[in-house]
Amino acid sequence: MTEPIALDELYQEIILDHFKHPRHFTKLADDEVMIEEENPTCGDLIRLTARVEGGVIKELKYEAKGCAISMASASMMADALVGKPVAEAKAVIDNFVASMKGEQELDVDRAGDLVALEGAKRYPLRIKCVTMSWHAAEKALT
Ligand code: ZN
Repeated sequence: MTEPIALDELYQEIILDHFKHPRHFTKLADDEVMIEEENPTCGDLIRLTARVEGGVIKELKYEAKGCAISMASASMMADALVGKPVAEAKAVIDNFVASMKGEQELDVDRAGDLVALEGAKRYPLRIKCVTMSWHAAEKALT
């Protein structure tokens, strides 16, 4: 019975680490911003830009503000997608967003640390906090 608790703690640590040390977070000039996405119910906001070369995501940068889970999710999203071919990144996005909505099982092999965010599914108001940055990435890669 101890395992689920230990896992929860591990997941919290991963999320907290991304919140405190967001990856790929940077200040963006207005003309760099490709996509702006917000989650008004919580006040989360993300501005994002992506650089794709030869079908591969070379760079994905964003600035964001909002709650801890939205910030952590943005960081984990960027971490998960940078370096991936666009088609693969889109598959990761689709699967992750669908799993947050309860429509698909999360592909754990592909998701890696993202499983840590799945716990937010239990809190319906948090789902948009988690998925906001993913929708932004999806639009930037279209
Ligand atoms: Zn939020």
